[in-house]
Order: sequence, then C-alpha cells, then structure tokens
Amino acid sequence: MRVSSIPLIAALAGSSTALYLKSTPDGSIEAPNRFVKRQNDGWNPPSNIAAPLKEVWDHVSSTYNGGNIFGFKNYGWDQIMANNGQINYCVRWESSQTVSEALRTQIEAKAQEAYDDWFTWVYGYNGFPFSNIKVKVVGWAVSDKSLLQGSTAGIQVYTDKDSEGIPQCAPACGRFFHQDGDYSGCSGGAANHYDQSLWISEDFGGGAGGDWGQRIQKSIFDREIQARPMTYMQHEMGHTFGMDDYWKPTGAGAFIMDEGLEIVDFDGWMFRNFWYELKQNRGW
Ligand SMILES: [Zn+2]
Repeated sequence: MRVSSIPLIAALAGSSTALYLKSTPDGSIEAPNRFVKRQNDGWNPPSNIAAPLKEVWDHVSSTYNGGNIFGFKNYGWDQIMANNGQINYCVRWESSQTVSEALRTQIEAKAQEAYDDWFTWVYGYNGFPFSNIKVKVVGWAVSDKSLLQGSTAGIQVYTDKDSEGIPQCAPACGRFFHQDGDYSGCSGGAANHYDQSLWISEDFGGGAGGDWGQRIQKSIFDREIQARPMTYMQHEMGHTFGMDDYWKPTGAGAFIMDEGLEIVDFDGWMFRNFWYELKQNRGW
C-alpha cells in the first residue's frame, strides 16, 4: 500500500486504505433527492435508526484517536469551517495520460456533485452555517506539465513528487501539512492552498480516504465521472468527514460506508451525527 502521508483517519479506519466494493456502479443509478429542509435543531434521528446510529457513535468515539475523537482536528468539517464553506482541491494525477481542459472542468464539476450529495444532509440542519459548499480545484500535480492540455490559467501546476516519486501538490500549500493554516510558504499564496487531494492513480486498487483527501483507482474514477452517484468517491469522502469503514451496527441495512452503492438515510444521519457532535465540541 503506497500512501505518502498516512492519514490519521485512514490509519484508524484500518482497512479503508484498501477498499474494494463488492458491487460496482453501472452508471445508471440516479440518486434521489432526499433533501427536506428540517428546521428542528438537536439530535432527533428517526426512531428506526436511532439505536444503530448510537452504536456507531459509541464505536467511533471510543476507538478514534485513542478514545479522544475530538482531539483530532483535521476532519473535513474542520477544513470547511477553516476555509469558510469552500473546499480547495489539488488533483494528484498519477498517470501518464494527457488531460484536456474539458476533463479538468468535468472533474471539478463531479467533485462538486459528490460534495452536494453529502452536504444536502446538513444544509439547513442544526445550525450548519453554509447553504452550499463550493468545491474548487486550485491545482494539479503531474509528472510533466505537458500532460495538461489547453490553458492552465487559474490553476497551480505542480511537478513535486512525494517520497515514492508520485506527483503531489506542494506540501507548503497543503492543509494536511499545515493544519495551523499557515500557507506563507505556498507559491500561489493562501488563496491557492489546498484542503484535500483528489488522487487519481493508475497503479492502485480500489480507493482510500482520510483527512488528506481521497485516492481512487483511475479506471474506477474514469467510470465514475460518467456516472451518478460516484460510489467510490463518496465512500472515500465519508472517511474524510470522519466515518468509519465497513463498521456495521445492528439493523442498519445497506449504506455507502458499508457496501452500499449510494448515500442512503443511514449515511446521511451518520454524517449529521458528526456535524452535531463536532459543532458542540468546537463551539461552532
Ligand atoms: Zn472505506
């Protein structure tokens, strides 16, 4: 397993560094719009899933970070609050294939869609302060700049490599490396820092996710950007926002953080649970 920077969450989640979903999306699944604006604050999950949700929270809060789940300060939630409702991505292109401008635009749009599918669960919920999360791709890391076709105006282009020779965006610009928010060493300035990497890898099986971002096998990603929902992308994003890997409580049914193909109500409520708990802990 090659991960240049072992993320705490992925390390905690154990097998999340080598996810293989048993089923694969065929690209024809349409995610239903489940968003219903709920005015009620507080923790009021539907009674039929309240018990398994509690089981999950008891599990994560007793096992993450040595039982100190709040001591870890780089959940995706922390990133969103630090960056005022926006997530900056840097794409790590672990491939020798060229990338058209159109493909770059499409990748940004699909990352936005993947975010929207999760965040529709907290827009309007329990004091979540943003009505949309803006996803912006600020940079690309490639082995050779010539792989990026067309204009690269508006993005930072990096040819940095990690310790294993894989393209990565400059650590000086990365949230994972600078959780204090000091991007003074970033050539593009703080506005072009990146919160997460979207790491697209030819030589990698499945997916991985953590506070550093998401890594996805390129052939899977190629398929997912033509599909909805992006099953792997959204599962790995779930890890970025704190959710565990394949940890199934009693009576939860299929859900995307287990082996499901799309975000279902149980995932949405786990997502809300993190917001609910972190909001209280952080004083947001
Ligand atoms: Zn996973």
